[in-house]
Amino acid sequence: MNNQTHTDNQAPRPRVEKTESEWREQLTPAQYDVLRSKGTERAFTGKYFDEKRDGTYRCAGCGAELFSSETKFDSGTGWPSFTEPADRTNVVLEDDYSYGMHRIEVNCAACGGHLGHVFPDGPGETGERFCINSCSLELDASEH
Ligand SMILES: [Zn+2]
Repeated sequence: MNNQTHTDNQAPRPRVEKTESEWREQLTPAQYDVLRSKGTERAFTGKYFDEKRDGTYRCAGCGAELFSSETKFDSGTGWPSFTEPADRTNVVLEDDYSYGMHRIEVNCAACGGHLGHVFPDGPGETGERFCINSCSLELDASEH
């Protein structure tokens, strides 16, 4: 496939591509709002902010491995928070100037889905706090 519409200064082409109607069919309305419309779920309403099980958090859009429960911490913000991604190449960080603020947006590298934001006030060695919407995640809980 030789698609010339892509220029060098754009983000890498997502590996998972679907039409908007395909995404609407696959995702719940809440997931669609976050992943495809860059929405933010209300704090303390998501299914994972207080999740304590071990496992791997995958992208709700495409299943890519995004975060490990080992890096999850209770930030008190009401959103699932992680000190770092499971694999840095699985997320893409982008400047976000919406709402009159400068924030760093976190997107899934594979499907381009919006996950949340990263802030420089994390408690771990990285000093980062990945503030992620529950809606964009699916926990693959490990068996014990
Ligand atoms: Zn994805």
